[in-house]
Amino acid sequence: MPTLGIDLGGTFIRAAVVDAKGAIISSAKVAVFDRKPQGVVETMAQAAAEAVKKAGVKVDGCGVGAAGQIHKDSGVISVAPNLGWRNVPLGEMLKTRLGYSVKVVNDLSAAAWGELHAGAGRGAQDMLVAFVGSGVGSAIIADGRLVNGGGGVAGELGHIKVVPGGRLCGCGEHGCLEAYAGGHNLIAQTKELLASGSSRIMESLVYDDPESITPVTLEKAANMGDAGAKEIHERAAQFLALAVANQVTMLNPARLLLGGGVLTHCPGIRQRVLDGVQAWASQTSREGLLVADAELGDDSGIIGAALLAA
Ligand SMILES: [Zn+2]
Repeated sequence: MPTLGIDLGGTFIRAAVVDAKGAIISSAKVAVFDRKPQGVVETMAQAAAEAVKKAGVKVDGCGVGAAGQIHKDSGVISVAPNLGWRNVPLGEMLKTRLGYSVKVVNDLSAAAWGELHAGAGRGAQDMLVAFVGSGVGSAIIADGRLVNGGGGVAGELGHIKVVPGGRLCGCGEHGCLEAYAGGHNLIAQTKELLASGSSRIMESLVYDDPESITPVTLEKAANMGDAGAKEIHERAAQFLALAVANQVTMLNPARLLLGGGVLTHCPGIRQRVLDGVQAWASQTSREGLLVADAELGDDSGIIGAALLAA
């Protein structure tokens, strides 16, 4: 029987009815206005009802992919920074509202599961998925299963330390990879560069509008020879490349999937990660390693969440 997948974002909630093979039958998207847990549950139920009505089929079970730290058995969201939540029993609340079983998982785990069964990970048993978007994260599949860790937070690539005592990260700690290489922080560092008044090239690219800066602007300035931009870009790319290469050495995946907005839209950073894996992952760990780009885009999480609930 088809299941429901829900992608819980801070701005929109997307729901889709997904068949057992991971194909989307119908979908719906509803904007989030009330970010309090009860309000979000109502919006989720609204999106779910819309998707189910469009599909015209019965569904059995619901999976939710949410950004944040999730207790793997109880469905309690310990921390969801984009919603400002702490210790919200989302699984129970949504189950009560929808009337069928609900499984809540980390959004990256959901995306990795979707890619494994319906995307670029098909056929892999041991896979590492590295995403660099506004944040940095990874998910680990070993022997065909998701590695959750004792507390459900294994694979937090973005929060490995790359500079002891370095830049403050969104997680509250200092020196995390994400603080240097996550899209959000690439933009923050580029704004700092612009504010310093030392970058003519950056000034010419943004025309007095710092809000127009994206990681693509940074890569463009670096390619044009801007010294400050090159420094930020180079540091981020090198930290990412080292981190992913070390993960490959540690886990010896058969497949490495790369995804997320920064790796998709900044070919310079993506190439540095590929080169870094070749240069720095141990030779034995990368023998037979297949590197591919995630192929389901924004749908990977919703498909994976639905399949995890099946
Ligand atoms: Zn962090």
